[in-house]
Amino acid sequence: MREFKFVPYDLPPEAEALRGEVRAFLKDTIPDMPAVRRARSWSGHNPEFSRALGARGWLGMTWPKQYGGHARSCAERYVMLEEVLAAGAPVSAHWVADRQSGPLMLRFGTEEQRMRFLPGIARGEIYFCIGMSEPGSGSDLASVRMRGRKVDGGWSINGQKIWTSGAQHAHNMIALVRTSEEATRHAGLSQFIVDLKSPGLTIRPIADLTGAAHFNEVFFDDVFVPDENLIGRPGDGWMQVGAELAFERSGPERYLSSLRLFLEFLRVVGERPTEAEQILIGQMTAQMWTLRQMSLSVTGQLAAGQSPAVEAAIVKDLGTTLEQEIPRAIQAIARDDVDLSGTDPFSATLSYLLQSSVSFSLRGGTREILRGIIARELGLR
Ligand SMILES: Cc1cc2nc3c(=O)[nH]c(=O)nc-3n(C[C@H](O)[C@H](O)[C@H](O)COP(=O)(O)OP(=O)(O)OC[C@H]3O[C@@H](n4cnc5c(N)ncnc54)[C@H](O)[C@@H]3O)c2cc1C
Repeated sequence: MREFKFVPYDLPPEAEALRGEVRAFLKDTIPDMPAVRRARSWSGHNPEFSRALGARGWLGMTWPKQYGGHARSCAERYVMLEEVLAAGAPVSAHWVADRQSGPLMLRFGTEEQRMRFLPGIARGEIYFCIGMSEPGSGSDLASVRMRGRKVDGGWSINGQKIWTSGAQHAHNMIALVRTSEEATRHAGLSQFIVDLKSPGLTIRPIADLTGAAHFNEVFFDDVFVPDENLIGRPGDGWMQVGAELAFERSGPERYLSSLRLFLEFLRVVGERPTEAEQILIGQMTAQMWTLRQMSLSVTGQLAAGQSPAVEAAIVKDLGTTLEQEIPRAIQAIARDDVDLSGTDPFSATLSYLLQSSVSFSLRGGTREILRGIIARELGLR
């Protein structure tokens, strides 16, 4: 039976050296952002902020310089991410492009695609969204029905995507499309870079529980995508999407989404927490610290060229469980004067996270699916 490997990993000095620089930048750039907006964390959209991060060299950080990257280490990128997420900086504009679309193109894209998109992503100017889920195809992603038909010079695409975060702001989508009927469902899928301004494409917002509309339905009605926008070879989409999901599941964003509420809680309880509050603070701190060590271990393994897919799935599963537990545990011991409809920073942040945290174990692959992957890798099913 395969075992988990969480080899301890200490951040090297050059990565730690970056921490102060990022903190000073955040203090200057977003000094007065309210707590409830910081709680949106990687859902907060602000192109100006994305461009400012790009100008500092903190996007496309690990990519080769010829593509506008900065050839920094995974450890340095980890520190930068940890600091921007802990501060609740508005990173959603560039988030998907920097985290997964860029790395996907680096690995499987053509040289022309890399030159066309990567420098703009690294400047914080080109944004991507993820076109995987469809109505009826979420966990069972191999069942996607969006269809691409070969036409002269490209492909004609028809179908619908759903839950597409940030499609209303993004310039491009990487869409998973069925391009041929094969004996197995996993064959015959391909990935395309789709310009979201293409004729025949309609984006409709979907509001979530909090009333915010950060995700969308995207309809394709004979959308033409040129041959040069196919990523990799036709039929390789399933293998590529697996690699893309690994980029999506391994970062510190998978356990830091409720940190702002925890910090607000510490501020409100002040110097003299009750015994129940002390216990909660101790438990949450210990869990967060352990998750950080586990997440760092995944980063260390990635830096060493390994593929810690099971370890990344474990960090995401445990991390999202903690992110969901923090608002509920804080609500359970909240003092009598907390009013969830209140606008003070603590109440507003608690109220926001009680509603939004429900989705944390769905986005990027549900808890049940991750546990299925873990069980399979351990030889248990
Ligand atoms: C905030 C948010 C943002 C998102 N952003 C994007 C995005 O940008 N792009 C994108 O493509 N998608 C996005 N998604 C969609 C997300 O990836 C899917 O919601 C998720 O994969 C689940 O798919 P589904 O909604 O179709 O649910 P289903 O797959 O129908 O699952 C319903 C329930 O059944 C369980 N289940 C399903 N199959 C199994 C199984 N085999 N064994 C055990 N349990 C099972 C699931 O765990 C879940 O609890 C987003 C979702 C959320 C909540």
